[in-house]
Formats: sequence, C-alpha cells, structure tokens
Amino acid sequence: MGRLSTKCMDWVNRGAEALFPPACHFCHLPLPEAGCCEVCLPEIRPHSLDCCQRCGRALSSDLAPGPCGSCLRTTPFQQETHSLFSYHGPVRDALLAWKLGGDDAAIHWLMNASASRLSGLINADDLLLPVPMPLSRMRKSGLHHAAALAKMVAGQTGCHWDWQLLRRHGEQARQSSLSKVARRKNLRKSFYLNHDHWVERWEPRWSENSQSGRIWVVDDIVTTGATMHYACKALRGLKRPVYALSLARTPVK
Ligand SMILES: [Zn+2]
Ligand SMILES: [Zn+2]
Repeated sequence: MGRLSTKCMDWVNRGAEALFPPACHFCHLPLPEAGCCEVCLPEIRPHSLDCCQRCGRALSSDLAPGPCGSCLRTTPFQQETHSLFSYHGPVRDALLAWKLGGDDAAIHWLMNASASRLSGLINADDLLLPVPMPLSRMRKSGLHHAAALAKMVAGQTGCHWDWQLLRRHGEQARQSSLSKVARRKNLRKSFYLNHDHWVERWEPRWSENSQSGRIWVVDDIVTTGATMHYACKALRGLKRPVYALSLARTPVK
C-alpha cells in the first residue's frame, strides 16, 4: 500500500510538472526549480530601513528615523509603520497578478523571503487586524488580500489575527480613482471598531497579559498612508498603541 501510494504520488508530481513546468514566480521564465530568476531577484527592492519610523516614508539616512515633515504637520495615529518591499518591478507585478488574477505564488515567495524581518517585528502575543475591504469588492473578487496577508504573517510568526474586529461601513468608491483630498474625506468615517467582538474575544485574554501584545493593522500596499491612518484611528477606543504593516509601499512622489 505504502509503495503504491508513493508510486501514485510520483505520477501525480510528474503530471503536475508536465502541466506546470517550474518557472520564475514573477516573470514565468522556465527554471530548474520554481522560485525567483536572476533577472527578477535584483529588481526586488526591500523598502528602505532609513525611513520615518512613524509613517514609514523613506528618508535620507541622516534624517531617519524621523519624524518627517509630514508627521510633524499631522501625526499619524499609528506609533510605527513598517513596509517590507518597495512597490516596484516584480513586487508590483506580483501584487497585480494576485489582485487581478488570484495568482499568489509570488506573494508566498515574498513572504517567505521576509521571514527574518517579520520575526524581528512581530511577537507571538501580537494581534494582526487586516484593513477591511468594501463588501462589493470582496464579493466581486472573492478575496480579501489584507486578510490573506495577515493570515500568512500569523502562520509565519505564531501570532494571532482577526478580521472581525476592524470593520468598514458600506460601500466606498475605489481609493485609487480619487484625489488626495477626496480620498481623505471618503476614508474619515469608513472604519469602525467592533467593540462587542473585542469584549467577547480579546479583552479577557489581553487584560491578563496587558503589556506584551501589540495591535498591528495590516494592508497589502500603502500609497499615501491615508487608509492606514484612518484604519488605525478607528481603534482608538482600545486605548492601546497601534502599529502598521504592509507588504509594499509606493515610492513617495
Ligand atoms: Zn523572473
Ligand atoms: Zn513620517
């Protein structure tokens, strides 16, 4: 039976290789083993560690860790903002392939490549909350990308995640189609805290161990930082410091 199963698995694996030959997850160039090719690898840019600690904006090394001018004018609600990669080249392609076509192979590769960075940032007692998506967009794609990322980070670091605590009101226009002013106006009242869920699920266990766990709001891409600011601000009722994490960050224009 054991020999038969092994033989069957060999056939299955050989069939899968014939149908899906190993390739670069980013540009799909054939490779001896699936992964990242030599052309894509140098184009995958980690987000600069020289940045404003508060908002995550890249800064010159003499100005890091900030606060930057923008944070001096309007302080973001979150205590710190961390992004893993610059939204550029293969990372941008990987996010588009995931969001538009559901192909998550490159995203898993990027998350695995970030394992040591993530284990330095996230503790096992931390709680990750994905930025909620408008219901219409979730129904259309059937995917909640920020939640999928939070789940991946939780799987890698052993921390908790919860998609029910931070919620979003109704339907909103797509943020990318709006001007900066309209975007902020649209977002100001978009998010809210599901306080009953906090009291039932998290407050009892957090009050026992109040100092160790931190709350992180997780998103796939940070662009202007407005979504992250208002999503974090919706958690002010928890009276705890909130941190922000994204897979990618667009370069500041
Ligand atoms: Zn490639
Ligand atoms: Zn800043």
